Amino acid sequence: MKSAILSVGTELLFGQVTNTNTVYLSEKLNLMGIDVLYHETVGDNPDRARMTIKRMLNEVDLIITTGGLGPTQDDLTKEIAAEAMDCELRLDVASLAAIKSYFIKTNRRMSGNNIKQAMLPQKKDGIILDNHGGTAPGCIFLKNGKMIICLPGPPREMKKMFEESVEPYLKSMSNEVIYYKMLRIFGIGEGQLESMLQGIITDQTDPTIATYAKEGEVSVRITSKRSTRAEAEAAVEEMCVKVRTIAGNAIYSEDDEDLKTVVAGKLIDSKISISCAESCTGGLFAATLIETDGISSVFERGLVTYSNNAKQEELGVGAETLETFGAVSEETAREMTAGLKRKTGSDVCISVTGIAGPGGGTRLKPVGLVYICADYKGRTVCREYRVRPVSRNWIRSYTVMLMLNMVNELISQPY
Ligand code: ATP
Repeated sequence: MKSAILSVGTELLFGQVTNTNTVYLSEKLNLMGIDVLYHETVGDNPDRARMTIKRMLNEVDLIITTGGLGPTQDDLTKEIAAEAMDCELRLDVASLAAIKSYFIKTNRRMSGNNIKQAMLPQKKDGIILDNHGGTAPGCIFLKNGKMIICLPGPPREMKKMFEESVEPYLKSMSNEVIYYKMLRIFGIGEGQLESMLQGIITDQTDPTIATYAKEGEVSVRITSKRSTRAEAEAAVEEMCVKVRTIAGNAIYSEDDEDLKTVVAGKLIDSKISISCAESCTGGLFAATLIETDGISSVFERGLVTYSNNAKQEELGVGAETLETFGAVSEETAREMTAGLKRKTGSDVCISVTGIAGPGGGTRLKPVGLVYICADYKGRTVCREYRVRPVSRNWIRSYTVMLMLNMVNELISQPY
């Protein structure tokens, strides 16, 4: 099925409101195997809405509109959709009663204009969608194999209506089942990953493979559309095996979980205690890990040892080490971890030192130079990284990802 999304609202064109409805609906429709061909936005302008719907109807089977279902005279989406589909709107008594009771429940006064919201398609032309989070009912117009679904603008109301009524309705119309898996990958760039996967992506129609880059990591979605769930699952699994062979250990999740959640989950489940000593990230690693509920059972201590003095006092880093190799060096990182281990005895001890910039870099030690050293039950890894110097906070956040990845690597290896 081919579809288009039409957002209605002048506030969207002014840039005052971000069009989150379109993002949400696009994702949902694609996951259901419905191709989205267009996103369009019009202001509260009936002529432009009329023209856009007319044009879209020539090319797609389904149009979803959001916004413009309110009580005022410029809220005309439903009226324009009815006209385009050659359907009549009639007062729906049950919807009017629901609107009235919503006003009573929320202690507000209903105006005469709200009656307009109860003007809806009749059974022969479509379906009324109850609004359980606001006043405006939505509706589905059906005619000659085409469908227009009108949903309210406020995202909370729109999502509730979509999930409660539209999604099950669209699913019931399809005799195909969509199944997908989202693999999350860290340490391989999107371009590099695409070329690695080229051999299996080319000419692939089902399952399809799509890569998405976000915040320094890449996700791979493998989707299959078959007549039964078992068939779709088997096709996705077969493709996963191929991707695993190519991307290997870089895949850290097959359930679309982010790195911090995966690492925290493994630490908690395996009762592996952890402590950290941070310089350039200034506590961000600890704060990130602590976002996960239940981490208190394994998170022992987080130290922010920013100055040389703190590194010496808290972790016993040698003055000579700092003088000879500098605070940002492998030697300092190793001594930080060793000191943390002595102090805490945690199963995992991880330390970081680096140059977050924008100042402070030199030719030999540029901004973005980072050393991470982690020890897991006596097995120590220390690595140098050159993080892209996008900005101070980017370097800090990406360094935290590198730290999480190192912990994941260490605790996932057979001991
Ligand atoms: P209601 O009468 O229940 O308010 P409506 O369908 O008339 O519903 P609009 O008046 O068009 O909705 O929009 C109400 C608010 O919803 C907007 O001011 C805006 O904050 C939000 N909104 C509308 N469209 C979008 C969109 N596409 N993405 C995100 N928010 C939106």
